[in-house]
Amino acid sequence: ARDLLRVRDLTTRFFTEEGQVNAVEGISFDVEAGEVLGIVGESGSGKSVTALSLIDLVDDPGRIVDGEIWYRNADLAEETASDVPAAVDGDFVDVRRLSARHRRALRGQSFATIFQDPASSLNPSLPVGEQIAEAVEVQRRATADPRSTRSRTQGYGLGKFLIGGAMPGKGYLTEESRARAIELLELVGIPDPAERAEEYPHQFSGGMLQRAMVAQALAGEPDVLIADEPTTALDVTIQAQILELLDELQAETGMTIVLITHNLGVIARMSDRVLVMYAGELVERGSLADVFDDPVHPYTRGLIGSSPDVDDPGKQLDPIPGNVPSLLDDEMEDRCYFADRCPKAMEECLEKPPSFDAEGSEDHAAKCYLADHDYDPTRALPEGYF
Ligand code: SF4
Ligand code: MG
Repeated sequence: ARDLLRVRDLTTRFFTEEGQVNAVEGISFDVEAGEVLGIVGESGSGKSVTALSLIDLVDDPGRIVDGEIWYRNADLAEETASDVPAAVDGDFVDVRRLSARHRRALRGQSFATIFQDPASSLNPSLPVGEQIAEAVEVQRRATADPRSTRSRTQGYGLGKFLIGGAMPGKGYLTEESRARAIELLELVGIPDPAERAEEYPHQFSGGMLQRAMVAQALAGEPDVLIADEPTTALDVTIQAQILELLDELQAETGMTIVLITHNLGVIARMSDRVLVMYAGELVERGSLADVFDDPVHPYTRGLIGSSPDVDDPGKQLDPIPGNVPSLLDDEMEDRCYFADRCPKAMEECLEKPPSFDAEGSEDHAAKCYLADHDYDPTRALPEGYF
């Protein structure tokens, strides 16, 4: 398999009035070209922040404070090699070290996103087709000149980060971009796309809006589609349709998908490989079969055990007893963060956090002492320890 992304030691923190929140703490993983990589975890596990970090869209008071995001793109590597040699390694560029204009150009074009709530990605006062045409046009112009990527979808979804250049006015949209928008609406399964293109977002059902958002995301023919809870707000039937659509698009285009969800049914239905996150860290990585049939980490075991019907995309996670620990730096203890919820916690788990070499993508690995040795009941923590 060929890596498309190599994420190394990614660390994203929020600097709040209550203190420093360690939302994503030094995670490393690879994304292979053409795969669907599922990232699963409870809310607050850091999976959405990971997604936003990948596309450099972490908002104040959050900031990526460390790490590298290597993206395979030979053209960009060649273009960048003389300006910023440190940002290039073979065919890979480190997204974080690229110039602002190159980073901007990557968004939408190389990396596109869809989120849970389509309403926040579409401007209510513009016809849907026009917004998709604009996404097409913005991406086309960004390729030619990354400074010209201003959009009337500014303030909505990705649009809010496309800054610089003149606001598009009359005549900004070409016949080609309008025609392409209709093609894209057709591609995502919107009936009568030419007519629907003229309608406003409020005239679309939830499922149709989600399809329109997918069309908008595809406008730049991205290498990677980052989908954060893409079906969570939808009812079960529509969820299944959207997943089907993503599946088809993936098969047709060979696009890579990073799929973020707390829904194990969605992960099971879609993913080739799975990352499990807990308390801002990766705790397990493996193929779908590794993680679902042979989970190592007690957290993963708990998730899967609590969700017997993984084939039902409507099935939500039953909570594992206990709470996700505080991610406030001041309150984090130097131990396995899952220890207080872990039925297998041992003395060593409190002495030092287990290590996890998550680089690469081939093996099944877990950040847990049980990945190295069997459970030792003689070292179990006394009942009622926490
Ligand atoms: Fe449980 Fe220890 Fe593994 Fe943490 S390291 S998950 S406490 S067994
Ligand atoms: Mg989230």
